[in-house]
Amino acid sequence: MPAIPQLRRVNVRTPEVMQLVQAEVEVHYRSRIVDALRAAGGTLTIANTTIRLAKQFGFCYGVERAIDLAYAARKVFAGRNLFLLGEIIHNPEVNRQLREMDIRFLASRPSDDELQALQPDDVVIVPAFGAETAVMQQIAERGCATIDTTCGDVMSVWRRVRDYAKRDFTSIIHGKSTHEETRATASRALGDSGGGHYLVILTLDDCDAVTQYLAGLGNRDAFLARFAGSVSEGFDPDTHLLRIGVANQTTMLKSETEEIQRRLRTAIETRDGSPDNFLVFDTICGATQERQDALFDMLNDPMDLMLVVGGYNSSNTTHLVEIAEQQLPTFFIRNASCLESLEQIIHFDLHQKAEHSSYTDKLKGDGPVTVGITAGASCPNNLIEETIVRVFALRGISRDALEAAIPAPPTPADAA
Ligand code: SF4
Repeated sequence: MPAIPQLRRVNVRTPEVMQLVQAEVEVHYRSRIVDALRAAGGTLTIANTTIRLAKQFGFCYGVERAIDLAYAARKVFAGRNLFLLGEIIHNPEVNRQLREMDIRFLASRPSDDELQALQPDDVVIVPAFGAETAVMQQIAERGCATIDTTCGDVMSVWRRVRDYAKRDFTSIIHGKSTHEETRATASRALGDSGGGHYLVILTLDDCDAVTQYLAGLGNRDAFLARFAGSVSEGFDPDTHLLRIGVANQTTMLKSETEEIQRRLRTAIETRDGSPDNFLVFDTICGATQERQDALFDMLNDPMDLMLVVGGYNSSNTTHLVEIAEQQLPTFFIRNASCLESLEQIIHFDLHQKAEHSSYTDKLKGDGPVTVGITAGASCPNNLIEETIVRVFALRGISRDALEAAIPAPPTPADAA
């Protein structure tokens, strides 16, 4: 059997490189206005307009690290071909910046032509979501060096599903089967031998289809048709649901994941009379949970309108929208340009899965208006700043007036 080629991983985070990277990242994504507002408690009222920021929003530690590594790679490998597997994170602004730095984009599952074009001297960046084992293998076979930015929280999910496979448990993964992270996790659920199995479920309805099958009420062909594309090769619900271990994409809605865990556990206990054939590990990451908790917290106070800023394909941002729209008019916008006027907002409709321009009367008039703003883990602060500036501008408040109203950052003397 031929030897399996090893990936050539490279460490680019030397202190000298990171100093240069930090300076560049600050210029591209930092916002003095957002920093000052955060330091002042997150609320700013000018005349009859109030902006409230969630206590936690925007870039998480995993995203910051992935961006740092991509920028560092560009510096260390100046002049070399640098490729990215898919998107570094789900934010168009960040991906645009990387394109401008001459980082080329491959598909997250590269085509044969893309793979054949890779040369040993080329460098491939693996995004924060990770990549499927087969793709990593193909890159190794091309002899390329890799910069792996996979978030540690994603890797801890991989450890969990590998362990399920080792113990002969099928992984039930709560996630989106087409999402890069879930595809990467599913590939690890096959285990080191490759003989493990997985089933990806997205909704509570999907979960109920599984619990019905566990209760002996399902139809095998209908089950396999329903989950086509979301199961491992050779998956058979009659044999591969005997022992199940639940894991989840790190960015899911926590309450839904917990409900899925509860329903599956109950179904196994009812079938077997014991929970011995059920394993679970909550793999929602800390950053996702903090942003969801902060949003629930801010929704305790009345607001007129909520703006959630981020890439439309961002999973954690999508869940923030789902939470907020239960309670007040909520618009999922990609940047400030979506605020077309006081009455028209371009936004992504999660239910219709399309971008629309919708009418709202919430920003109109001379009366007081409070706008809440939050953002997912992949949204840079400069986009939040532009949104804040735009809301005030629409309400007749200039950037100069906004700058003047921002509290000064605390000085060392204040802290003494
Ligand atoms: S959202 Fe969570 S899992 Fe994803 S990069 Fe951020 S910290 Fe890591």
